[in-house]
Amino acid sequence: MIQDPLNDQLGRPLQDLRISVTDRCNFRCQYCMPEEIFGKDYAFLPKKDILSFEEIVKVVSLMVPFGIKKLRITGGEPLMRKDLPELIASLGKIEGIKDIALTTNGSLLKKHIYSLKEARLKRINVSLDTLDDQIFNQLNSRAYKVSDVLEGIESAASAGIQVKVNMVVQKGINDHDIVPMARYFRGTPHILRFIEFMDVGNFNDWNLEKVVSKKEIVQLINEQMPLEPVEANYFGEVASRYKYKGTDEEIGVISSVSDSFCSSCTRARLSANGQLYTCLFATKGHDLRKLIRSRAKDQEITDEIKRIWYGRHDRYSDERLLQTNRKERKKIEMSYIGG
Ligand code: SAM
Ligand code: SF4
Ligand code: SF4
Repeated sequence: MIQDPLNDQLGRPLQDLRISVTDRCNFRCQYCMPEEIFGKDYAFLPKKDILSFEEIVKVVSLMVPFGIKKLRITGGEPLMRKDLPELIASLGKIEGIKDIALTTNGSLLKKHIYSLKEARLKRINVSLDTLDDQIFNQLNSRAYKVSDVLEGIESAASAGIQVKVNMVVQKGINDHDIVPMARYFRGTPHILRFIEFMDVGNFNDWNLEKVVSKKEIVQLINEQMPLEPVEANYFGEVASRYKYKGTDEEIGVISSVSDSFCSSCTRARLSANGQLYTCLFATKGHDLRKLIRSRAKDQEITDEIKRIWYGRHDRYSDERLLQTNRKERKKIEMSYIGG
């Protein structure tokens, strides 16, 4: 299927695509869409600017020959996009696509689980940063309950969909929940993955002191429940994996701050309005929507994708702490291109 494996300037192949299907969300997580900025006057993308399902399918189909095998559907909150399961079903029919996963805050999961199953979705990542309702509400500025998310997880599991749980850790906010979350999910089929708090976007008031590093997270858990490292599953796997000693029960840590993994980053990102980004911390994207809507020939679009990936040299996380103008850099918002 791969006609022309495409490597960037640092020799990294193009293997996965994260597709943001909306920039809207029913949460206002402080680290992603703080309420003060994303309030009622915030200008979200107008509908006409958002890629249709047909346009998304076209982009993916044109990228498969370069080596794209894995897709992640994200947002904003992807389950707020009307008829999302239809898109998932169509993407699943593209020859060469081996894996489709959805990343969601889980609050609407229970409601949509039947149609997601019908669409043959196999994997979901649910974001959950605490088991405490009060902290949960403080973190996302909304009145949902942790049990809404836990019920979503259970409904997915009952539908035969594999669930991983992602917890973003912030020092002094939810780091005391690291061990309780590990205990809660240990013994369940759901792998819990801890994510270091990142300086995505321009508004989340990030600084290094608020990051709990992979080393600290592993140490905290290891003191209570001894861990041992596990080999990566494949090139480009973002999580460092660990097992509870003497078991097959696993956790992961995504350490893009303390132990970056840019050298194996094989991901491109497509925003809801059809801009292609080559890094989560990019300052600008490449306008595929304009090309598609100008009725460009498929060859012209593939040539453009090739040019974009070939020219890629991003390695923001490797260079983060060396950058003198980090604070001034205008980055794209996380809710716009997904995690
Ligand atoms: N709304 C969905 C959700 O929350 O799962 C999908 C989009 S969200 C932008 C994707 C992932 O990015 C979530 O797991 C979220 O926790 C993570 N995320 C958002 N802001 C982050 C930050 N500043 N640092 C680390 N992870 C972040
Ligand atoms: Fe919404 Fe996800 Fe961002 Fe939270 S992390 S505000 S749920 S898009
Ligand atoms: Fe990939 Fe950019 Fe993250 Fe590095 S900083 S791992 S290049 S998305």
